[in-house]
Amino acid sequence: MNNESSVPFHRPSIGEEEIGEVVQTLTSGWLTTGPRTAKFEADFRKYLGVPHAMATNSCTAALHLALAGLNIGSGAEVITTPLTFCATVNVILHVGATPVLADVGADGNMDPQSVRQRLTERTRVILPVHLAGLPCDMVSLWSIARQHNLHVIEDCAHAAGAHYRGWPVGAGCPDTDDYSDACAFSFYATKNLTTGEGGMVTTHDGELADSMRILCLHGISKDAWNRYSDRGHWFYQVLAPGFKYNLSDIQSAIGIHQLRKLESFIETRRRYAQLYNTLLGDVEEVELPHDKPDCRHAWHLYTLRLNLDKLSIGRDEFIEVLRAKGIGTSVHFIPIPLHPFFAAYSQRAANRCPRAMAIYHRLISLPLYPAMTEEQVRQVADITKEIARRSRRTAMVAVRAAAAR
Ligand SMILES: *Cc1c(COP(=O)(O)O)cnc(C)c1O
Repeated sequence: MNNESSVPFHRPSIGEEEIGEVVQTLTSGWLTTGPRTAKFEADFRKYLGVPHAMATNSCTAALHLALAGLNIGSGAEVITTPLTFCATVNVILHVGATPVLADVGADGNMDPQSVRQRLTERTRVILPVHLAGLPCDMVSLWSIARQHNLHVIEDCAHAAGAHYRGWPVGAGCPDTDDYSDACAFSFYATKNLTTGEGGMVTTHDGELADSMRILCLHGISKDAWNRYSDRGHWFYQVLAPGFKYNLSDIQSAIGIHQLRKLESFIETRRRYAQLYNTLLGDVEEVELPHDKPDCRHAWHLYTLRLNLDKLSIGRDEFIEVLRAKGIGTSVHFIPIPLHPFFAAYSQRAANRCPRAMAIYHRLISLPLYPAMTEEQVRQVADITKEIARRSRRTAMVAVRAAAAR
């Protein structure tokens, strides 16, 4: 349905600034990785307050580079979450390591207690995802990593603009000298900051930054390039079989301006999330998204959990009714074990995640983005409320259902 009052699940916020910079890039004569990517990286470093940031053509590439740069490979186990996009798990397999799934806590993020239960002598990395833009319990995860000599790579695909204990997610906690080895951001079309497709990997480790930069572009060493530059521009040396993961200046042109707007994007997302919370707060059939006092939620997603015991319809039907009324929604995420390819992994006791599986059937993400109007937020909330009220499981229905069993 595509009528006037329909609200799509997402629409990017691209303004004259991005369009102007892309046009300038196109006419500049330099289209691939160049001065605009260097500026985007420098701006991103400054925004987070980190020493190293490298632009990539996706978050998937950034995660892959972090694992490869840390020499994670065959025989290693990487602990991650089942409530994530498949990319988080695919990259673990790309380097030849074994994904291990820790169950989630009440907030939907990786539960440190479950991570502890998954540790073996082969565990090398903890790979948390800040689901929906709500930061994970990093203090507990860093403490486990320190105790067991593990690396930490954060999947920050949803977390551009989030804060953890007063610091931007990606910056670690400099006051306590706690950092992850690497943080991977996504600039995919639907993310908080977009370049259409794109990503960024950040680190505090200069050596890892150098390895990732070499692996990002065919394994070509820039140092070797500079060292022999007296031979002319044509000379280069390949030090490893690297990847082709660089971001173009056309994309960075968009990123430079999206980054400048990120704070105001987050402010709008926060305001709309609060409005949803106010409008849906008295609807018993839904549970509002989790938040934490020591964090700034990036509100990449506004995810409700349906209280299925109070409803006469399931999540899928709820989504269908919203769709029929012109409201686009999504589910974040189909748990990893439910995908055919990962089914074999879910057979292992170490990968069983009952809490994630139970939450899945209740999840529904409503539209939330700065290009929405406040009126649209009210419209989505009203329709959601109306569906919940109309589908309320009455005491009589519950009794009948129980009798039929
Ligand atoms: C979007 C997303 C990714 C992948 O990002 P790309 O930039 O599309 O590669 C990884 N992890 C999570 C949690 C995501 O939502």
